[in-house]
Amino acid sequence: MTVTPSVSSAKGRVLIVGATGFIGQFVTESSLDAGRSTYVLVRPSACGPSKAKIIRAFQDKGAVILHGLVNDKEFMEKILREHGIDIVISAVGGENILDQLSLIEAIKTIGTIKRFLPSEFGHDVDRADPVEPGLRMYEAKRRVRRLVEESGVPYTYICCNSIASWPYHDNTHPSEVLPPLDQFQIYGDGSVKAYFVAGTDIGKFTMKTVDDIRTVNKSVHFRPTSNLCNINELASLWEKKIGRTLPRVIVTENDLLAAAAANCIPQSIVASFTHDIFIKGCQINFAIDGPQDIEVSTLYPDETFQTLDDCFNDFLAKLGDKPVNTNKITTTNPVVESMAIIA
Ligand code: NDP
Repeated sequence: MTVTPSVSSAKGRVLIVGATGFIGQFVTESSLDAGRSTYVLVRPSACGPSKAKIIRAFQDKGAVILHGLVNDKEFMEKILREHGIDIVISAVGGENILDQLSLIEAIKTIGTIKRFLPSEFGHDVDRADPVEPGLRMYEAKRRVRRLVEESGVPYTYICCNSIASWPYHDNTHPSEVLPPLDQFQIYGDGSVKAYFVAGTDIGKFTMKTVDDIRTVNKSVHFRPTSNLCNINELASLWEKKIGRTLPRVIVTENDLLAAAAANCIPQSIVASFTHDIFIKGCQINFAIDGPQDIEVSTLYPDETFQTLDDCFNDFLAKLGDKPVNTNKITTTNPVVESMAIIA
């Protein structure tokens, strides 16, 4: 089905794949808020009240909803042509990364797409080196990168690092859960830093890059200095917000490796990334000085990032809404979705 977009098409027309997903929603909201003609690909199987609500909200803001599968090459060629799409953003989840191979073939065939953003939204997958089973997902993302580069389609890789939240090692979408209220699990000695970026900023800055000439064929790294923090500091910040201290339990490198080796999907994938971030320092152990690297704050120096302090205030406000015994909240996410993967 289609509806007439109420937004201007002066800027390039954007097609977003995976818009109903965790990261895709932030990107789609930002695209619509920026007044772009926004087309959203929804799987025909997408059903259930929560997805329907998301889709309706996009439609209300003027998005054009298209039903189909990203791995159907002929269908993708048809919609890209029919709707005069200029920019394609994919936010398919971790288990569907290779579905993008057909999409890239379709983009290459029609030859008019000005920018493609594959589903990255995490680490620089050519540099990060998680243990299995996370490695498998990065190998899939690397394969997508190589095909994009061979195809000659202009691309941008969004390396936005971690989402601002408590980084639960068994939770694919940690920002959907409050930080702990019983005890903190501290990875290693808790001193390795990482970048924690608000989901709304991931969306906002992603949309800024899509027709910025400076980001053609670049990896855009999100390293806002105000959002660099280690897990000990993160724990202290949350203690300040809730007005009390909590016990700190050490989760060792071996504990994380054992959780990864258990090969329980998706939790083990998250454990392997947690090990890579908070033990090996995969977000900070390289300089972004290659010819393909660019840091987002240097591109948009006048734009501010939501601070971790603000993000944790939001969690505190949510806590205030919840009539619960805070000591009973566990560190495990009740909504682990089917193999959606972080970073
Ligand atoms: P989700 O699983 O939440 O959403 C995936 C989306 O892709 C859904 O909308 C799904 O549709 C859609 N989709 C999947 N396959 C197809 C297909 N064949 N055709 C059309 N649509 C399809 O994904 P995430 O948001 O978790 O992950 C997106 C990216 O972000 C990944 O690369 C992931 O690694 C990264 N990520 C980064 C995080 C970070 O902290 N930096 C955190 C989480 C993810 P449907 O609604 O029908 O299921």
